[in-house]
Amino acid sequence: SQCIYEFGPKKTDGDSSQKDLLGGKGANLAEMAKLGLPVPPGFTISTECCNDYFELGGNLPDILDAQIFAAMANVESQMGMGFGDFENPLLVSCRSGARSSMPGMMETILNVGLCSTTIPGLIKKTGNEWFVYDAYRRLIMMYSDVVMEKAEELKPKDGMGIRLSLEMMMNNLKNDKGYANDTDISIEDMKNLCERFKKKISEDLGLDFPDDPREQLMGSIGAVFKSWNGRRAVAYRRIEHIPNSWGTAVNVQSMVFGNMGDTSATGVAFTRDPATGQNSFYGEWLVNAQGEDVVAGIRTPNPLNLDTKNSQNGHLSSLEEMMPELYTQLFDIRNLLEDHYQDMQDIEFTIQEGRLYMLQCRIGKRTATAALNMAMDMLDEGRIDEKTMLCRLEPKILDDLLHPIVDPEAEKHAAVVAEGLPAGPGGAYGQIVFTSEDAVRWAKADKKVILVREETNPEDIEGMRAAIAVLTARGGMTSHAALVARGWGKCCIVGAGVLKINLETKELRVGTRVFKEGDLFTLNGTKGTVYEGQLKMKDATENPKFKRFMEIADSHRTLRVRANADTPEDAKIAREFGAEGVGLFRTEHMFYGTDSDRPLFLLRKMILSKTVAERKEALAELFPFVKEEIGKTLAIMDGMPVTMRLLDPPLHEFVPQLVENQQEIADALRIDLEEVIKRSEQLKESNPMMGHRGVRLGITYPEIIEMQVLSIFEAAAELIQAGKTPQPEIMVPVTCNEKELDFARKIVDRCYEQTLEKYGLESIGYMYGTMIEIPRAALIAEKMAEHAQFFSFGTNDLTQMTFGFSRDDVGALMNDYLDNGILVADPFETLDQEAVGSLITTAVDGGRRARPDIKLGICGEHGGDPASVEFCHRAGLTYVSCSPYRVPIARLAAAQAAI
Ligand code: ADP
Ligand code: MG
Ligand code: MG
Repeated sequence: SQCIYEFGPKKTDGDSSQKDLLGGKGANLAEMAKLGLPVPPGFTISTECCNDYFELGGNLPDILDAQIFAAMANVESQMGMGFGDFENPLLVSCRSGARSSMPGMMETILNVGLCSTTIPGLIKKTGNEWFVYDAYRRLIMMYSDVVMEKAEELKPKDGMGIRLSLEMMMNNLKNDKGYANDTDISIEDMKNLCERFKKKISEDLGLDFPDDPREQLMGSIGAVFKSWNGRRAVAYRRIEHIPNSWGTAVNVQSMVFGNMGDTSATGVAFTRDPATGQNSFYGEWLVNAQGEDVVAGIRTPNPLNLDTKNSQNGHLSSLEEMMPELYTQLFDIRNLLEDHYQDMQDIEFTIQEGRLYMLQCRIGKRTATAALNMAMDMLDEGRIDEKTMLCRLEPKILDDLLHPIVDPEAEKHAAVVAEGLPAGPGGAYGQIVFTSEDAVRWAKADKKVILVREETNPEDIEGMRAAIAVLTARGGMTSHAALVARGWGKCCIVGAGVLKINLETKELRVGTRVFKEGDLFTLNGTKGTVYEGQLKMKDATENPKFKRFMEIADSHRTLRVRANADTPEDAKIAREFGAEGVGLFRTEHMFYGTDSDRPLFLLRKMILSKTVAERKEALAELFPFVKEEIGKTLAIMDGMPVTMRLLDPPLHEFVPQLVENQQEIADALRIDLEEVIKRSEQLKESNPMMGHRGVRLGITYPEIIEMQVLSIFEAAAELIQAGKTPQPEIMVPVTCNEKELDFARKIVDRCYEQTLEKYGLESIGYMYGTMIEIPRAALIAEKMAEHAQFFSFGTNDLTQMTFGFSRDDVGALMNDYLDNGILVADPFETLDQEAVGSLITTAVDGGRRARPDIKLGICGEHGGDPASVEFCHRAGLTYVSCSPYRVPIARLAAAQAAI
């Protein structure tokens, strides 16, 4: 099959639809070239070749050589230059590019093709010796690190990475000679540095830096492929659930140079503001610079235009002011790209001696706020329709919109430590730590940490993930830290220049003030302000745009969304988030509380009762309390269904441990302490998850069911009398046999008649149903549905019993399963559609056969997981139920499933 796809002004093979094959970068380079934009010509080696490379044990397929040099010949003829030519040498970059962007995770090598024979020619042609040696020293630095050390696995003698060694040599030179910037280094010193670099490489790695363009090219291509399996890339893929099998493409592209002097520059831009979503062109650039300089935070980048000047860079000139014509050209390209993609683009450009080149475009990462604002604006601009608009937000991102912000009142009086760029919005407080490892370690110990770094690099990825927020001293809005934090919706401030970090003493100095590891900071990532101490947080206020967005989502979905709420307070939040009922009200949760609480005490008394008389007495005391909580919840959810699950308490969790609590129970039951201890012992089970729980308790102690059902009916009756419309649904848990349902039904019927009589009512609207959480129940669903008017899939238990994984202990092995690719995702987080899903569809079919109008819902944690919601939509369920805060996520996921 075809391995190589060319792109450029003359001939372009691919387009943006071929991301799987060409990677995102290659596909979009092709698309831009097709649009007639100034893209330096080159070619893409497909992701399939990457897989071949690994199958061949880290070797390029033989046939590739000839194809590469045939494609190279076309590039050479378009450029009027020759790769390796002495007089007019062509240089290229080798750029990685996977299907979905993995910022900074893989490698790119620039200036490939510079060597002792091509250097003089390039100097002669450009008349710019400094530039040539600057390009050469960059090639040496990148190549020795990426190709020689990482890909060819040469081990530096002194144990320090070669890149770091070379960087130190360059820093020492700058310090010794008093050069403030790289651009100040003299030609002689730059030349010398290159020679010393090569010597150091030979000494340290035991191999000479290659002086042959072809060798450099093939080495670079292999190294880019190999970087797909680099440590950082693998870690990133795991977090982002990107399959290992995708592979990366390699883009070989003619170099254009932003480091040829004052009429040259390089920059990065977003077609709209990625932090706020505002419809203004946003970007950063540096004069006389190359490639990563802007992103790496080596110098503070200049603002792109007058719009993007701010407190950090206001003293620097914008491209709009310095090179107005080129700015206009870039601005036109910005508009063209937005019109073409109808979405915000993240672009890279380079200006070589007054000529503009486009080097990359892709869908830009954005904050949740920006995503919402842009999607709604583009809908209103008539660029996209409602369906496209709804698909612009990943459901999970809604979490960030509901995230807390720093309370503006508290901010007024707070002590400001530093100001930086607002790279990731929202607020956060935490203890400061200075390394990625510390962040991970502290977070594991349940501490909230803010990772403070000079600048972040891809090695910090795990620490950034673990931290609640990220703060850096250097870098701009497009720096690595900013990009990654935004992608994750994490609060982040970059470029807070006053911070002086000392890694050895783990201290942070700001002027004369010293902060130590563990000190508390609060970050306002929306403004870019760092405060000392812990400030009060506030829920993000109701945003009218968000409301309208959710209304549009609701108008597209068919699946209903309910919430799991265990208290009247939860029910209230759920309603505010748009829940259309309660899918799971766990009655035992009203007993969770402190040891001194009366209800908990009564529950314990009931659990430890031995005789029916003892138990009835305890239940009679519990009754008014249970009835009141149920009544309050039904009232809050008036007019909406509320599924009340009958008691399913893990008995052992409720047994008192403290002697004084045991004594209290003993007194209440009029027995002695030893007896209480003995009864507690008897309640211990070796397999409590499969123990005496759910309906099984009710079979042994029918009076428990009776008390609960009476509470439900009486609470409903009183609400009806008050003119309300309660809709209770009685749900029997942990069933595996239709006769259990029949057994409980008889009690329900009796309580119903009794309540009607007591309140003089004709009827009380209610439903009777069961959870399906044991595989056996799913398999005999048809029989279960003869008794049950509804099913609610308890997918937590159903997953536990289907896999035979103990929910409480599986953490110990889950990572090994994920690392070894035995499972793709944790089945407790995202529904296992293959087996658990098949039990669900079996039960749906069986249930419908017995009762065509059966109501079907799901109430496990999966109800708030977008992929699982999509499955529920396909399986034809009536509703999903999830925790109150996930209701908006489920609503959007349900809309996307219907689109
Ligand atoms: P990443 O995926 O990490 O962004 P890129 O492949 O985009 O890596 O390259 C890194 C930097 O080098 C970018 O700033 C890019 O614009 C620049 N660059 C890559 N190829 C070329 C080229 N042919 N000419 C000039 N600059 C280039
Ligand atoms: Mg990079
Ligand atoms: Mg890039």
